[in-house]
Amino acid sequence: MDPLISSLRTHYGWRFFKEGQRSVIEAVLSRKDALAVLPTGGGKSLCYQLPALIQGGLVVVISPLVALMEDQVRQLHSRGIEAVCLHAGLDAACLADALQSLQKDSLRLLYLAPERLNGNTFRTLLSRKANEKKIVAIAIDEAHCISAWGHDFRPDYRRLGDLRSLCPGVPLVALSATAAPKVRADIIRLLNLRNPFVHVASARRSNLHYSMKRRPKEALDEVVKSITGSRGAVLIYARTRRAVERWTKSLREVGIPALQYHAGLDSSARQHALNHFLGTPSPVLVATSAFGMGVDRADVGLVLHLDLPATPEGYLQQSGRAGRDGLPAKCVILFSPGDRVKLGWAMHAYCGRDDRASLVTPQEKERLESAQDQLRRMEAIAEGHLCREQSLLLSIGELVQPCGRCDRCKDSGSFRDWSEQALILLNALHSKNSLEIYNLIKTLPTLEVEKDETWGWLVRRLVQDGLIWESSDGAQRLSLKDSGIRFLAKPWPLNYAA
Ligand SMILES: [Zn+2]
Repeated sequence: MDPLISSLRTHYGWRFFKEGQRSVIEAVLSRKDALAVLPTGGGKSLCYQLPALIQGGLVVVISPLVALMEDQVRQLHSRGIEAVCLHAGLDAACLADALQSLQKDSLRLLYLAPERLNGNTFRTLLSRKANEKKIVAIAIDEAHCISAWGHDFRPDYRRLGDLRSLCPGVPLVALSATAAPKVRADIIRLLNLRNPFVHVASARRSNLHYSMKRRPKEALDEVVKSITGSRGAVLIYARTRRAVERWTKSLREVGIPALQYHAGLDSSARQHALNHFLGTPSPVLVATSAFGMGVDRADVGLVLHLDLPATPEGYLQQSGRAGRDGLPAKCVILFSPGDRVKLGWAMHAYCGRDDRASLVTPQEKERLESAQDQLRRMEAIAEGHLCREQSLLLSIGELVQPCGRCDRCKDSGSFRDWSEQALILLNALHSKNSLEIYNLIKTLPTLEVEKDETWGWLVRRLVQDGLIWESSDGAQRLSLKDSGIRFLAKPWPLNYAA
């Protein structure tokens, strides 16, 4: 029998590899560096666990989340595999135990929080183990955290750049669920991967049904309807802790036993929410984006966002928690045109604060601009008229056909031509040279529905279509682009979903 399959059967009881797993495992076994981008639920952990078992050595795993590491250690123990996890939350006795088991050659997986590498103890330990040729590989999980272009940058991850010199000769394997080309390049550069084997799986998930719609002023009915119409577990994302608390309360008031999760809760409340989400048949959890990395529940039937997500990449990761069992699942965004402006200002306000203004480095500035850009792209996907999956995947550099499942693919009936209104708007802008959106809209006539909303929406469509330029400083200063001037000379149809 194929030796890899036979180890897979012995240790896990499975008969097949998922797409991509085998080639990454083979690369690690032949002591090559590797970068694996496998979708959520694609079985990333097997890529570094199996080599440890096959070679009977130690694999060190760097992971950003304690809960995630502890969960994996529990699963490994249940399979009779020796594993420990070292993080700052361990008390002295547990730490001593863990360090003791490190002396044994039977240990297969050692999970480390990145900040452990700040201290000399662990650096010396790693370097000694590498010298003794006891380390099969070092795995860097959630490797996109190393890149400032990623959606989840963690400064601690920058430390990992010296793993190479700390443990020369040990293969490094970087793993992530979503990493755009720029982020992949950052991972390879910053981790100093050498001639890495690269596997990038498609992020397409053929069982997810995306829909994105305007959030009504009173959104409770809409949310309740989505929850009651879905199967399995429900995960609801809100932007702020306050919103999480408010929504949990509102849902409980209408008889939905929702639980809340955010970073402001104490650890026992967070653990309780996590256990509830993992252990009850149809839980409803309201959470900030602090929740979810590495949370493994297969039957999530609905992931609902109550605001516009900050980046397409982050959204793909969060929505990807739906339907890991392969059965149909829904991903819904309820957004409002004000979301982008609010989020954008929040980002700016943070960097522009008096006590920070002088501290903002050019890199931070660049990152801020990139964040604004991502936000604008996310808004364009939500308000735009293109296939949701196609445009989401395009934003991480993957080109696919329209999905045929999302709200846009299913209902293309609501399109109409907006060139007449665009002409009014562009003319007004043309006569003023350059103008803030607020001042522009003041000069425009009333349209059938709410004036500010519709004009604002049309401005964004025209920015997206390249007829108008918009400043990226949050002030939303507008001016005509060349194609806008061409449009004024000779208009063409502009079909947008109303
Ligand atoms: Zn579609």
